[in-house]
This record gives sequence, C-alpha cells and structure tokens, in this order.
Amino acid sequence: LLACRQLPKVELHAHLNGSVRPQTIREILEERSAAGEALPVTELQLKDITACGDRSLADCFRLFDLIHAITTTHAAISRIAAEVVRDFAEDRVVYLELRTTPKARPEYGMTKESYIEAVLDGIGLALSQLGQQRCTTMSTDLSCLSRPGVDGGASEGKLDVREAAGCTPGGEGPQMDGCCTAAPGPVDGPASVPSGGSAVVLTNDEAIIVKLLLSIDRREDAAAALETVQLAARYKCRGVVGVDLSGNPYVGSWASWSGALAAARAAGLGVTLHAGEVYSPAETASMLAFRPDRLGHCCCLDRELAETLRSSAIPLELCLTSNVLTQSVPSYPEHHFAELYAAGHPVVLCTDDSGVFGTTLSREYAIAATAFRLRMNALVELGRKSVEYTFADAEEKRRLRSIMDRALVTK
Ligand code: 5GP
Repeated sequence: LLACRQLPKVELHAHLNGSVRPQTIREILEERSAAGEALPVTELQLKDITACGDRSLADCFRLFDLIHAITTTHAAISRIAAEVVRDFAEDRVVYLELRTTPKARPEYGMTKESYIEAVLDGIGLALSQLGQQRCTTMSTDLSCLSRPGVDGGASEGKLDVREAAGCTPGGEGPQMDGCCTAAPGPVDGPASVPSGGSAVVLTNDEAIIVKLLLSIDRREDAAAALETVQLAARYKCRGVVGVDLSGNPYVGSWASWSGALAAARAAGLGVTLHAGEVYSPAETASMLAFRPDRLGHCCCLDRELAETLRSSAIPLELCLTSNVLTQSVPSYPEHHFAELYAAGHPVVLCTDDSGVFGTTLSREYAIAATAFRLRMNALVELGRKSVEYTFADAEEKRRLRSIMDRALVTK
C-alpha cells in the first residue's frame, strides 16, 4: 500500500457525494443540530452511512439519498468538494475527474447552477490550500456562462491559459493580471473562495489537475438530462469536461437519456456511462452501440456483450472494492479486471465512492497488485495508460505522461 501511495495516479470515476468523509457527515449533522434543525436521519441511519461496509447496490442508493438529505447547503457541498480534492491529492492522484449530479433544492435556495458553482468553489479552495505557487487558470471571461444552448458558448469558451508566477488561487497571494479571479459564488458559500478553479493547477509538474463531469441521474427524464448537458456545455470554460450517466440501475430507461447524451457528444463533451451493473442485456447493448468515450463497471455481461465490449475497445473504469462490496462480482480474483487486463483491453482502476466504501485509489492499486499479481512496473504502466483515457486536453496529457514516465524510470 505504501508503494502504491507513492505512485502518481489518475482517478476517472469518483462520485462527489460518495467520496465524502464519514467524519464530515457527522460534523455537518452536529452543526445542523446545534442550529436547532430537526435532523434528516436517525442515529441508526447515521451509523449505516459512516460504517463503510459491504452493502447491496440497492442499499447503496438508499444511502446516497440519506447523504443528499444531509448535504443540502452550498457550504456543505463546497466543503465536501474541497476535502475530496485534498484527499485525492494526498493519495498522490495527479489527475482527478470528479463527477456529480447537479441538484436543485429550492427550499435551500439552491439551483443546479449554484450547486455547480459550490462544487467549483470547493475545488478552487482545495487547490489554493494545496499551496499552489503558480497557476494556470481558466479564462476569466465568464460571459460564456450566460450563453444558453447545448453548445452555449462551449466552443468559444477556450482556455486563456496564463502562467502567472506568484499567482495564488483564492486571492491571498500576489495576483497578476486577473489570474484566478473569483466568479460570483453561491449565496451561502464561503465568501473568499476562488471559483472557476476546476482546472486551476500546476504549481509544479506534479500538482493535481481537477476536472468536473456532470452526472445525469437515472431518475431524471429527457428534459432534465438535456438540462444537465446544457449546463455541462456552459461550464466547459470552467473545467467541466464531460457528462456521466449514473444512479440506480433498476430505474429509468436508456431512451430517456440517449438524446441528451448525443447532444453532449455533439457539444464536444466526453461521455461516460455506468453500464452492466445489473444484468440488463438490451440496455447494455444500446449503450455499447452508442459508443461512449468510456464505460463504468460492466460487471454483468453475457458472453455476446462481453465480446462486443472487447471488440469496441472502449476504455473501462473499474472499481474493485465497490463491485465486491456490493456483490456485483463475487471476489477480487474473480473480478473481470483480470480477463480484460490480460486481453489488453483499456482499463482504469478507480474508487467510485471512497467515503462510502472506505477506500483510496492507492488501496485499489494494492488490491489489484495482490489479486492479479501485478508488479510495480505494471501498476505504473496502468497509470500511464490511464492518461490516454482522460478527458484532459493535449497539453495536460503531455504533462501527465511525463510524470508517469518519470515514475516508470524510478520504479
Ligand atoms: P453525487 O452525484 O450526489 O455527487 O454522488 C452520489 C450519486 O452518484 C448517487 O446518488 C448515484 O446517483 C451516483 N453513484 C454513486 N455510486 C454509484 C454506483 O456505484 N453506481 C451508480 N450507478 N451510481 C452511483
């Protein structure tokens, strides 16, 4: 595990609210209780949330609803995003694609947009706390956010990369030329937190790069799915690089979201789909035929679907602990990682929900090393190949490759 912690790693499948620290859930509840609020969960439910044990997939989705009932404010969302980024950075993740479903909660003054802003604020806060000395930043021209439509300004929302020595995101350090300028934040979000931070990075070659994917929840209808895609396109200039389809696999139907996902692709967003978490051959076949940029899980495929997946060469985000704890696969050695890896299929090790499943990416690497007898160089190579499946731009991929190459030499 220690050796895996030292490896530079790429995380491509991490759900924001699934990656929350159990202690943070407790503290948010304590704050709400101290403020005289009636708590949305019982002691027993709280124990379940913070237990990090094995539970069925269906139980997991009940758990996510409980977590959502607790993490209702912009401040809570920003805090969770900041902590998640710091946790991954401490685990030596050098590139993180975080994903979350934008949530509208009128009773808390939250819109889907203000939710996204709160996430970006948290990411920006973490990056500034990680002690960036220099930064490259997204365009300070936020006018792209006011343009509606699926491609609402996405194509114009180009990066205006300025390398400004001495610039500290968050406005605490010397600022140059508008670098890291904060965008308007959510009403109850932390006031001095930089926004637009999702791709603010690179103090040195090894600083973490963070991108955001917006998730369509399978409970959502076609209109809500399209709204998420439109938001993702509008926030491209702030580091949103793609769209994910996730949520309870027993709910909803592919036809509801395929149009929105096609629009996402047309808008230049990366598309990744949770597929085959339960045996659902018609849906999985449709997902494979859609040819997304990446797929997650694919645990329950019949022989024909497995063959179609292999010939598609679509990169797979694989989450060992999540799949074993939810009993989507019987054990680590029997995980489909083994077969796909041996066949040379593109695979990426990911955490899924590090808070809910009590794991880290280093731990996932260590499990893979033991279960599939992978040596250190094989793990480094796995990380290096992961770079190619990111939704990062060419320059970022070049930087990441050079980090991985250095690790390859030193291992
Ligand atoms: P959030 O989107 O609220 O930041 O993260 C939690 C959400 O991610 C859950 O409500 C669920 O929609 C999705 N999610 C987390 N883990 C899984 C998983 O293993 N499978 C699927 N299908 N969705 C998940």
